[in-house]
Amino acid sequence: MPRDARYDILFEPIRIGPVTAKNRFFQVPHCNGMGHARPQGHAAMRGIKAEGGWAVVSTEEVEIHPSSDVAPYVEGRLWDDLDIPALALMTQAIHRHGALAAVELVHAGMNASNLYSREVPMAPSPIANPASYVPIQARGMGKSDIRDFRRWHRSAALRARRAGFDIVYVYAGHSLSLPMHFLQSRYNQRTDEYGGSLVNRVRLLRELIEDTKDAVGGDCAVALRFAVEEHLGTEGIQHDGEARDIVEMLAELPDLWDVNVSDWANDSKTSRFAQEGYQEDFIRFVKTVTTKPVVGVGRFTSPDTMVSQIRRGVLDFIGAARPSIADPFLPRKIEAGDADDIRECIGCNICVSGDYTMTPIRCTQNPTMGEEWRKGWHPENVPPRTGDDTFLIVGAGPTGLECARLLGRRGYTVHIAEALESLGGRVTQESALPGLAAWARVRDYRVNQLKRMHNVEILRGSRVTGNDIIEFGAKRVVLATGARWRKDGVGRANTRPITGFDMGSVLTPEDVIEGRTCKGPVVVFDDDHYYLGAVLAEKLQCAGTSTILVTPGDKVSAWTVNTLEQPAIHRRLVELGVQVILNQNVVAFDGSRVALACVYTGQESALPAASIVTVTSRLPNDALYEDLSGRPDALAAAGIVSVTSIGDCLAPGTIAAAVYAGHRYAREFALEHGDEVAFRRELPTIG
Ligand code: ADP
Ligand code: SF4
Repeated sequence: MPRDARYDILFEPIRIGPVTAKNRFFQVPHCNGMGHARPQGHAAMRGIKAEGGWAVVSTEEVEIHPSSDVAPYVEGRLWDDLDIPALALMTQAIHRHGALAAVELVHAGMNASNLYSREVPMAPSPIANPASYVPIQARGMGKSDIRDFRRWHRSAALRARRAGFDIVYVYAGHSLSLPMHFLQSRYNQRTDEYGGSLVNRVRLLRELIEDTKDAVGGDCAVALRFAVEEHLGTEGIQHDGEARDIVEMLAELPDLWDVNVSDWANDSKTSRFAQEGYQEDFIRFVKTVTTKPVVGVGRFTSPDTMVSQIRRGVLDFIGAARPSIADPFLPRKIEAGDADDIRECIGCNICVSGDYTMTPIRCTQNPTMGEEWRKGWHPENVPPRTGDDTFLIVGAGPTGLECARLLGRRGYTVHIAEALESLGGRVTQESALPGLAAWARVRDYRVNQLKRMHNVEILRGSRVTGNDIIEFGAKRVVLATGARWRKDGVGRANTRPITGFDMGSVLTPEDVIEGRTCKGPVVVFDDDHYYLGAVLAEKLQCAGTSTILVTPGDKVSAWTVNTLEQPAIHRRLVELGVQVILNQNVVAFDGSRVALACVYTGQESALPAASIVTVTSRLPNDALYEDLSGRPDALAAAGIVSVTSIGDCLAPGTIAAAVYAGHRYAREFALEHGDEVAFRRELPTIG
């Protein structure tokens, strides 16, 4: 299909200092949990973005010196020349597809605990790292430290050029870098020419931009990443306060302004807390102050929104981290007139959890993310079928839908049977909950693809039995029948059923989702620790039922620390009037009172409650597997060569894990792994 002429503007080349971007799609820096430790995986991932049409592809934070060591987090490194080859792999992979490579040079200042390098952290003034409890403080920098820092930054810029980068960033964002700490009056309490007045606090940032231009500005564009709003009132940088003054002071100095909202949680807000384009109100002033190109983000997945950003003079470049993770080929799809095929980011921040858990990035929508090198998976090119296997997939949740999509793309004949009239399984259920509507994109993308495949048959309203499967006679059977929440309270804190949980006034999450009402006060017992407990508490409280969330965790939705949502979730519950009780296990229920036990002391107390919603753990729907695996002769007689359980019906997990399971099966069902490791690894060099 030819490209829609409305989108032509997105494909205009734009000059950035001495280099030219071929279009307006700009993959801004993003972490990925691979960094310096897994350079081949990292390079392959970035190369695929370039192949997918992004005109600029950036690194994550790249540490410029051992005194900026953010271990155990895994970012990029340019400490010395030894780090150049790893990053050169990336720039080569990007240049192969005609894109520009950008590097985000970072000195993390007090945010670098230097646990590996054991250097003493540095800050404008003496301070403890506000973002961690590591019991090491940063020392205040003297004049010679500032001179050293400027020299390190300059050397890193020169190394970046040798590694092949076209754009070199100076980074004053996310409250994660020294230049930003110097700008922030709450951290900069100096009395010399680098502290006090705004002109003084901006001095170091100005010098760094000038140093970088002097060092590499003839060949490389120098970009400034600057956070224009911190959402901290007068305590922080404000878009209508000092940020505007700073942009005015430096307006024409950098070749490019990359502007966003700080900190990372405010910048990468999930769809539960912000809509596409949510940064516009804060960043739009920048283009009125500078003539240099401006890039900004906002989880942009709609080409119409992108065009509107450009036409209304908000942005010159469409910046994206998450949309480029969910669909590395987003620009190429728009260019080819295939915008309907975009795999839209759902705004869940599972990708962020890779950085937080120091493991390779993964994505709910894009199961190939992080697997480009180690498994050789490409997001768009899939191997064609190698035989005439036919498939019956049971269950059209995220696992079954992704499995069908990929097997269908490979050219196999696929039948997918779903008990319900609706498709999507848990995604359809959960996306009806407060704030989770965008999660339906997991279903919609796949159903949209499947509808166009003549070799895939979707059988709705078809609850199948073991006999049905045997009679159907597909060569391979894939069970993707999902899981159900337990009602008996068994989870992490309780390994045996909780006394009284067999009562009718105890509800499962499915009961609440299906609209069963309950009497208040209701206790939501969250021993799952991800999003669902708090989302259900929000739903119940908003429906007028007085709600108390009880968790054995020391935080509400503790795992959402890894998706940057935890503080926002707690805040929302408090604002709604949900009572929150931490560090307490539920040990019994008598219909009017819940018995709680302190997780530290075991001391019991009673809490009045008329009903309970138990969000503890799930049981796999494995009855079909049990049935079929006990009938090998019948399977053989029917010509069925394999029956495989995948996704939540094998072991309940995240939606990302379910999509991955479906994808993996469709690629690997015929592989015999034996005892081999199922992916390539990057091993340390000895010597
Ligand atoms: P997953 O996350 O692994 O995809 P889900 O629970 O989201 O799991 O989806 C499982 C789907 O399987 C649900 O839509 C459910 O209705 C369907 N299902 C379960 N058992 C059967 C069955 N016997 N026949 C057909 N569909 C089934
Ligand atoms: Fe978007 Fe979620 Fe994928 Fe991140 S993991 S890119 S937020 S869909």
